Amino acid sequence: MTSPRTFQNFIAGSWVAPSTGDHFANRNPARWSEVLGRFPSSGPDDVARAVASAREGFARWSRTPAPLRGEVLKRVGDLLSARKGEIAAVMTREMGKVLAETAGDVQEGIDTAYYAAVEGRRLFGNTVPSELRNKWAMTYRRPIGVAGLITPFNFPMAIPTWKAFPALVCGNAVVFKPAEDVPHTATILVEILLEAGLPPDVIQLVHGRGEVVGKALVEHPDVPVISFTGSTATGSLVGGTCGRLHKRLSLEMGGKNAQIVMDDADLDLALEGVLWGAFGTTGQRCTATSRLIVHAKVHDRFVQMVCAAAGKLTLGDGLAAGTDVGPLIHEDARKKVEEYVAIGRSEGATVAVGGTIADGPGLADGWFFRPTVFTGVTPGMRIEQEEIFGPVLSVVKVNDLDEAIAVNNGVKYGLSSSLYTRDVRGAFQAMTDLDNGITYINAPTIGAEAHLPFGGVKQTGNGHREGGWEVYDFYSETKVLYVDYSGKLQRAQIDTHGG
Ligand code: NAD
Repeated sequence: MTSPRTFQNFIAGSWVAPSTGDHFANRNPARWSEVLGRFPSSGPDDVARAVASAREGFARWSRTPAPLRGEVLKRVGDLLSARKGEIAAVMTREMGKVLAETAGDVQEGIDTAYYAAVEGRRLFGNTVPSELRNKWAMTYRRPIGVAGLITPFNFPMAIPTWKAFPALVCGNAVVFKPAEDVPHTATILVEILLEAGLPPDVIQLVHGRGEVVGKALVEHPDVPVISFTGSTATGSLVGGTCGRLHKRLSLEMGGKNAQIVMDDADLDLALEGVLWGAFGTTGQRCTATSRLIVHAKVHDRFVQMVCAAAGKLTLGDGLAAGTDVGPLIHEDARKKVEEYVAIGRSEGATVAVGGTIADGPGLADGWFFRPTVFTGVTPGMRIEQEEIFGPVLSVVKVNDLDEAIAVNNGVKYGLSSSLYTRDVRGAFQAMTDLDNGITYINAPTIGAEAHLPFGGVKQTGNGHREGGWEVYDFYSETKVLYVDYSGKLQRAQIDTHGG
């Protein structure tokens, strides 16, 4: 048997070993004994070298015309398309979700690249009337500097592209710290950026542990922009440091998303939605449906439909045809799910289906857990309030839409919500009153499109958005220009109307 390949960081224009000399094993969550590669366990010195080189890259890249920067992203989109199948297979091997989902993850990166390419020809500023005669007033966008990007394991391609592509088109240099569980997909992304013609010092890749590499990046004084996606607990640490150091920060964090099913809903459609929303990516999506809020009139019937279908889902290796649900990312993630199932039972909820580790043929060496549905859940229970990040759905019974909206809103998170109904009035009420960054009507809580803003309210985020046009504001600084051609001193903000 050949020994696994040893991968490197990309720092200062070269693929290099970490200064520590240490590496970690990247393993397949569907078959934990399978080591896919050895990746650098880097240290703060590697981060420091990467930032120093990125600063040099920024000096040139920030002066490259934005349409030319966009052309690089166009080529990135083409290269991602050409390697889509290969990347999807690498991704499934290292993080477990089924091939159709990993291909979708790459497709999101492709869409984001083409959107960014065009944005290189826009990056609009504004020209507005001045309050004074013979004077122009306008804004334009300036690059900021070195952007430190820290990403989670669950969307190994899409999320890094959501951050890196707009950062680059806006003229920033990037230091990229991917999640430890998905280092191979991150490596391919950097290979593609380089092949597309990005100047080598404009992108730096530093692998390693969050508490070491991520922390050093967040603390580095020459990194004025940090974009973080991950858990709310880690985001709080990152936010504390960035606040102290006055850094520009985008946080995308946890969720506790609900699908509401009203008594007039198309139940077959709602069933497809909840299965996909709750058990797709093994429940490891920030937008995963982890609560199902059902009108009392259809509760028993719909719960029966959900449990029957959830019990039939096929668990297995995401590369195998016919697999519906892959493994959890690692042992700790599965332990967390087990703990929450015990908590739910102790709170008085009932496991209607699942609730146990899945270790049948072909599953014993992976981190599989059966799709699980809790019934008899009431608002305030921990399984109703806290992010479990696994294939666990908590069902809450309600009597009307007002109660459903109150239950949806009664958590500290606010990412995504969904309502199944045929009632236009109720749909518009929910669109207004559901306290989330994203609301879907007659569609599941998951399924972002690259050209729309993405993010959540309350403890899911800090007010910024990824995706769409809004993220370009985050990665650029607005500068205001006044041009006075009156030939005399004109004083703004002086009251010339008073007596
Ligand atoms: P995580 O918080 O464990 O890790 C995220 C990243 O932060 C990793 O790269 C990690 O190495 C790094 N990190 C860890 N400690 C750090 C520190 N002290 N300083 C700096 N960086 C550090 O999250 P995860 O388990 O990889 O991802 C799951 C979480 O991400 C869930 O809570 C999920 O809801 C959330 N998520 C949110 C969104 C969103 O857009 N809102 C999208 C995807 C995932």
